[in-house]
Amino acid sequence: MKYALLIDVNRCSICFACEVACKDEFVGNAYPPYSATQPDVEQEWIKLQEFEKGKYPYVKVYPIPLLCMHCENPPCIKACPVPGAIYKTEDSVVIIDPKKCDTGECSTKPCVKGCPWGVIFFNEESNISQKCTLCIHRLKEGQEPACFDACPSGVFLFGEESEILKEVKKRGARPMNPEYEAGPRVYYIGLPSVTLAGHIIGEQSLMDIPDAKVAITEKKSGSAVSCKSDISGNFVFENLKAGATYSVDVQCRGYKPKTIGNVKLDIEYKHLGDLKLAKATKK
Ligand code: SF4
Ligand code: SF4
Ligand code: SF4
Repeated sequence: MKYALLIDVNRCSICFACEVACKDEFVGNAYPPYSATQPDVEQEWIKLQEFEKGKYPYVKVYPIPLLCMHCENPPCIKACPVPGAIYKTEDSVVIIDPKKCDTGECSTKPCVKGCPWGVIFFNEESNISQKCTLCIHRLKEGQEPACFDACPSGVFLFGEESEILKEVKKRGARPMNPEYEAGPRVYYIGLPSVTLAGHIIGEQSLMDIPDAKVAITEKKSGSAVSCKSDISGNFVFENLKAGATYSVDVQCRGYKPKTIGNVKLDIEYKHLGDLKLAKATKK
């Protein structure tokens, strides 16, 4: 059985329970042959990275839990000079063997430098490299990884690779940095992408307008997509083309339609602010 993981960034409430759970599980606890004790400082086997996009006052924060990707073609294994010190289990979990790693051969820390996501940490005291083990000791007991179990917001979906890949396809998830060609087994929903957002309100009432139809059309190709504003009047289009120019059309029953031409996506997260709809005149 091969494992894979889906992380829905949009659901994260930035509570840090995942980081705390990993510390609780590993600080002061060794799980041979998979892991030695994690130091309580200077190592974060799972780290919530917060990226800010947009311009004040329309800024969006993307909280992205980052942990070992348990890659199919792990660059860390290629970088390690000690045979078998980093290996893949039959479940495709990438493990640093604490005993084999402790050779003193790696003063330049090649695996730490070799991991493009920076998720390997060198323990100067015990002279070994350490990272997320996907809680393999728990998996062997039929339990979920500690950090996934602790998340109150349903951010993590974990399971057999073919099942996770079905969800990946259905929910439009993607791996981080495919250009590294490492074959990460972690997929994300809601990674930062070129985004156009806005908020629809009544011109007189200034109340949010839900359920308005918003269509955007790219000027050059003529390709169009649409969505409806949510209960708070917000709408969002993701994965658009950087630098492209769009026209935005808003329609809602009881209101006059509104068009905004020539919206250029010159920043990664563009927010149109409050789009005010005037009431339609009664005939
Ligand atoms: S994410 Fe980094 S540490 Fe994890 S398997 Fe890939 S290269 Fe190795
Ligand atoms: S899967 Fe386990 S080892 Fe990996 S970050 Fe989560 S708690 Fe830590
Ligand atoms: S536990 Fe879940 S909701 Fe909380 S910070 Fe981690 S991923 Fe986000």
